[in-house]
Amino acid sequence: MSTEVVKLEGYEGPGFMATSLDKAIGLARKNSLWPLPFATSCCGIEFMATMASTYDLGRFGSERLSFSPRQADLLMVMGTIAKKMGPVLRQVYEQMAEPKWVIAVGACASTGGIFDTYSVLQGIDRIIPVDVYVPGCPPRPEQILDGVLKIQDLVHNESLRRRNSAEYREMLASYGME
Ligand code: SF4
Repeated sequence: MSTEVVKLEGYEGPGFMATSLDKAIGLARKNSLWPLPFATSCCGIEFMATMASTYDLGRFGSERLSFSPRQADLLMVMGTIAKKMGPVLRQVYEQMAEPKWVIAVGACASTGGIFDTYSVLQGIDRIIPVDVYVPGCPPRPEQILDGVLKIQDLVHNESLRRRNSAEYREMLASYGME
């Protein structure tokens, strides 16, 4: 896998290039995502491999992990989330500043996985919005990287106004958030 050089859409000529603010900010954001790893079980180990030298998430500008929600813009939830832990996860999400994105890594975070029991949350999208789901039990590091690339696409192409849109507010309201 190699990182690709993205050429911004716009007008260019000898010695100049003009593009829109949306596109320039999207490009900067997508290549400087700061993930918050919310790892509770085995999928977290795959994430450790994703950060290590062979897969090296740093190639995509995301080597700076944040364990403070206020300095993170990508929440990566990896592992089984017990219902008791749900309020904690939701609080972490709410403490992150906008714009923010969420990846559910693996079957447990996405759907509860093999733990179809009374004590396990059957998917984190029951309590917080999710942008990308990564399948697998556990997903391989390549799949986690693929999830991050999909987030990068969303980030790059997201309108600066999306977070103020009625649709976005409605979606947050459906989770009981403002
Ligand atoms: S999806 Fe599988 S590997 Fe990942 S946390 Fe659940 S049981 Fe573990």
